[in-house]
Amino acid sequence: MKAHDALYIDGAWRPAAGRDVIEVVNPVDEQVVGRVPAGTAPDVDTAVRAARAALSGWAATAPAERAARLAALRDVLTARKEEIAETVTAELGAPLEFSRAVHAGLPVSVAGTYAELAATHVFEERVGNSVVHHEPVGVVGAITPWNYPLHQIVAKVAPALAAGCTVVLKPAENTPLVAQLFAESVHEAGLPAGVFNLVTGLGPVAGQALVEHPGVDLVSFTGSSAVGRRIGAVAGGAVKKVALELGGKSANVILPGADLARAVAVGVANVMANSGQTCSAWTRMLVHTDQYDEAVALATTAAAKYGDRIGPVVSAEQRARVRGHIERGTAEGARLVAGGADAPREKGYFVRPTVFADVTPEMSIAQEEIFGPVLTILRYADEEDALRIANGTVYGLAGAVWAGDEAQAVAFARRMETGQVDINGGRFNPLAPFGGYKQSGVGRELGAHGLSEYLQTKSLQF
Ligand code: NAP
Ligand code: MG
Repeated sequence: MKAHDALYIDGAWRPAAGRDVIEVVNPVDEQVVGRVPAGTAPDVDTAVRAARAALSGWAATAPAERAARLAALRDVLTARKEEIAETVTAELGAPLEFSRAVHAGLPVSVAGTYAELAATHVFEERVGNSVVHHEPVGVVGAITPWNYPLHQIVAKVAPALAAGCTVVLKPAENTPLVAQLFAESVHEAGLPAGVFNLVTGLGPVAGQALVEHPGVDLVSFTGSSAVGRRIGAVAGGAVKKVALELGGKSANVILPGADLARAVAVGVANVMANSGQTCSAWTRMLVHTDQYDEAVALATTAAAKYGDRIGPVVSAEQRARVRGHIERGTAEGARLVAGGADAPREKGYFVRPTVFADVTPEMSIAQEEIFGPVLTILRYADEEDALRIANGTVYGLAGAVWAGDEAQAVAFARRMETGQVDINGGRFNPLAPFGGYKQSGVGRELGAHGLSEYLQTKSLQF
């Protein structure tokens, strides 16, 4: 797809106020694949005004009509699936097969869920002598990262539009091309002008201007804990609603009765997918001490198979960050059994699929989000020990439990401080609420819970 030298505001592509440009780089060969405007505060202001002007009309549109527009959007995205996959592959570096299945497939399915939920959601209910109306919160400022670039856009924009909100999106600087493709798709789907607006730009410039803009009623952010904390503070100061989807250090708990080979194989695949750039990745594998050596051997073999099959990480900066974590793991005394900090190729931002054994809970590689293809394997003595380790980080986004007995796995999962747990390899569910306990975030995305984030209640008494 050809990059637009413009921002999508009020239903049209318009030049940015300034002349600054973002160069989009392909992480596989380090070549520039496109240039987009780096929008600034005046552009954000124009976009927020357009979103405000469109708000009352869109909020008053019947849910069935909003559902029809979202169904049209889903259809456009479906028709452009291959182009989406190629675009994400070009700017994120993900292997094309993975881009097709996940980076294109997932947002299409999430858009579809909101086409249905917009029509069926209960926007009005009776509570005793009251009628409670669920009304749109208003203008949404959405700020998204690069790791699942279209999914994270759709997971905010689709429920916001279903709720009757209007949106200004500031996507990640590394992956603005698929955001432009999304804006084209919104246009093609016939959404009224101003309902969705796109300002590409840098986080500390365009992103910050969006968070601070008094015309924004709710900020929905996905990304690093450091930036999330600052956005939460700014939003708190202005008494703005805020949703934060931050990092994770999720535990994959393998209880003694589990199918060890399957649990390890799925666990390694979960971490290596998208080159480890997944906030919900099970980056800590917890194994009973009696099965520990066998699990390490299985994981080592599994990781070796990924050697050439994973893509690079998104940028030179991210590669340096991941390598730094690997070096620290070694320095702290963990045992490297696969991969390492050295570069596997001359060109491209590649990191070797890496596995650490003899990891203890207090090591930085067991506490900090690495966001690269790095698995840590920890040992536990008994179930209580496993629970203490699983809950022993500041995060709580996802996790997994494997056991011979499903009831035992469920009992363990219920004691985990985390927003999602997959039981014995349970499948991802695009309708299930997704979001964090503890410092993994505030709020929930996806399904009806994700839609509720964009609604506020008004009670009328009779
Ligand atoms: P990030 O800086 O938090 O980026 C997320 C989004 O926030 C991007 O659109 C970014 O713009 C924007 N942003 C940055 N500074 C901002 C500010 N002051 N005000 C408003 N918006 C701002 O994350 P990153 O630097 O790309 O990645 C760093 C680390 O964050 C990763 O290593 C990983 O640990 C974590 N991360 C987590 C997730 C997740 O899904 N939870 C996703 C990505 C990264 P720019 O693109 O211009 O920076
Ligand atoms: Mg950043």
